[in-house]
Amino acid sequence: MQLLQFTDKGIYCPVGDFYIDPWQPVQKAVITHAHSDHARGGSQNYLCHHDSVPILKLRLGPDISVQGVAYGETIRMNGVTISLHPAGHVIGSAQIRVALNNEVWVASGDYKTEHDGISAAFEPVPCQTFITECTFGLPIYNWQPQQVVFDNIRQWVHENQQAGKTSVLLGYSLGKAQRLLYHLKDISPEIWAHGAIYITNQMLREHGWDLPELHRITPETPHSVFKNNLVIGPPSAADTTWMRRFNPYSLGVCSGWMQVRGHMRRRNADAGFILSDHADWNGLLSAVKATGAEKVYTTHGFSSAFARYLQENGIPAEEVKTEYGVTEEEETNPS
Ligand SMILES: [Zn+2]
Ligand SMILES: [Zn+2]
Repeated sequence: MQLLQFTDKGIYCPVGDFYIDPWQPVQKAVITHAHSDHARGGSQNYLCHHDSVPILKLRLGPDISVQGVAYGETIRMNGVTISLHPAGHVIGSAQIRVALNNEVWVASGDYKTEHDGISAAFEPVPCQTFITECTFGLPIYNWQPQQVVFDNIRQWVHENQQAGKTSVLLGYSLGKAQRLLYHLKDISPEIWAHGAIYITNQMLREHGWDLPELHRITPETPHSVFKNNLVIGPPSAADTTWMRRFNPYSLGVCSGWMQVRGHMRRRNADAGFILSDHADWNGLLSAVKATGAEKVYTTHGFSSAFARYLQENGIPAEEVKTEYGVTEEEETNPS
């Protein structure tokens, strides 16, 4: 029997009787991170990293039954050993290591190999079988160091200020928003945010995260306050009437998809910043190699292309169908 199986409810461990990131309600759910395609409501019990606990409660409800663990701490379920290891994707994100006797599997969840400064840095975990995401599993996806991207954003905000425009940046509320705020906290006299981003930021600040205080945008907020300041909104705000209050403004979108020109035009962005919380092509390859895995399952993104490339390079790989990325609030392929 395989230690982990791919079922219609999610990744299942029959011996330990638990699921990893199930997309149907189950008895025991081990959660890699709090994005909506990985952490879904309705399960009886959740296990995740300590830092994900308040985010899970914010998103799934304060009354869920959830246990937090530290990175590297081991939990036993029916003789199966489970531990969580940093995935570098968003605050609290983890890869799940599952071991029985001498067999070790790792389910990556979403990950990125560049340390973003705020999420615990990705650590490769040696295993025989690795289940990897591959959102950006094509060679065209090749990130620049984040410092270059943040310098470009600073420059863009500065130019907008010179032109008397408001800078509106779109990035989703868990992950991209914290990363932008952490690195750009002194960029404008005030930073204004959409409610979804404000609430997450406020909760994280209350839990001790070094994030700037934001001003919350409400229907009553006078339009004059936005001038020369930075505004952060969720990707869903693009092309909505919510944007009108910022006139005159310049719209910047932060996403890995900005690597492809057409995506920027489609979102009516004035500036596209290639910034992702997922690994790029080289990041995926280096992560797979660092595990030393003898077998790789690919999912979540360009899974067939990435599996084929691994096979051609002597690493047995197979694509598996999951529902991750399908409803992701974040970097679902917009095409
Ligand atoms: Zn994610
Ligand atoms: Zn995902």
